[in-house]
Amino acid sequence: MKKLTTPTTVYEDKQYFYLSDHLGSSSWITDKDGNALQHLSYLPFGEVFANQKASGSSFDAEFKFLGKELDSETGYTKTDNRYYWANAGIFLSVDPLCDKYPMLTPYNYAGNNPLIFKDPSGLDFDPTIDHKNKTITINATYYTSNKNKAHLQKALNAWNEQSGKYYFTPEGSNKEYVINFNLKIAEGNFDTDDDALNAFGSDKSGSANYFQFGEVATNERGHTFDGNQITVSKEAPNRTSSHEVGHTLGIGHFQFGLMETGGNDDKISIGNVANILKTAKFDVKIPEVIRNNQIDNNGGGRAKTTHNIKGRVHY
Ligand SMILES: [Zn+2]
Repeated sequence: MKKLTTPTTVYEDKQYFYLSDHLGSSSWITDKDGNALQHLSYLPFGEVFANQKASGSSFDAEFKFLGKELDSETGYTKTDNRYYWANAGIFLSVDPLCDKYPMLTPYNYAGNNPLIFKDPSGLDFDPTIDHKNKTITINATYYTSNKNKAHLQKALNAWNEQSGKYYFTPEGSNKEYVINFNLKIAEGNFDTDDDALNAFGSDKSGSANYFQFGEVATNERGHTFDGNQITVSKEAPNRTSSHEVGHTLGIGHFQFGLMETGGNDDKISIGNVANILKTAKFDVKIPEVIRNNQIDNNGGGRAKTTHNIKGRVHY
């Protein structure tokens, strides 16, 4: 990449600064001197509501709703994997995870409820790295009504108890970092599911999740919607809640252990932890980790193979 300045420190004129709203959508765009060039606001499904330009300026921001590119020819927003048609509030292709949400159209945006939910592209947890103490902590908060708190706490403990058991060497470091889990129940008194859901909806931390008992599809014990909203059947075994918590950490399905769909085993494996780190954008070579180690968690035991794994995870 070339630097955009000349040796005489004359700054490139065409520098634009995008200031975003709470969803990451472009709200104000300024030039290099801080003069506003454009102001945008949006309806809940992302249709442009106001598009104001500074007089004499023809600048039109490429990146609009959710900070994604709006194709000026088609009017579609290019999200990570699919085109989104904001004016109609639908995606143009099916949700690759649609079999998990049989109650919704596979073209839906934000569960058709954008006032409470937003697009599932982000993380629903917050990994923090402490370079001094060499720790990586997976932080997340879970909203639930008062009556579910004791049950949910057990599900979270299944993960919290993994703290200190796994290590990871981040790329560029030669030191092992210990992995800790800090999953906790949100503070507050929520008498009903709706109270908890509303509090979850107004939590903008980016690491908030929601848990409830409720109706699920036949042959389903529970599901996690948008990566952060868990519904578990009253009839489900206890492991289901820990399993769904695993989904909120970005873990997909495994063939064995806690993350097996419909299984009975509640063991958390090195592959599960590698999956979380991968979701958090650490450079973990998941396929090798999973293939070799998915059931390598009988209360101990190291990863059998760590070759080819940049950013090693071991038990
Ligand atoms: Zn599942």
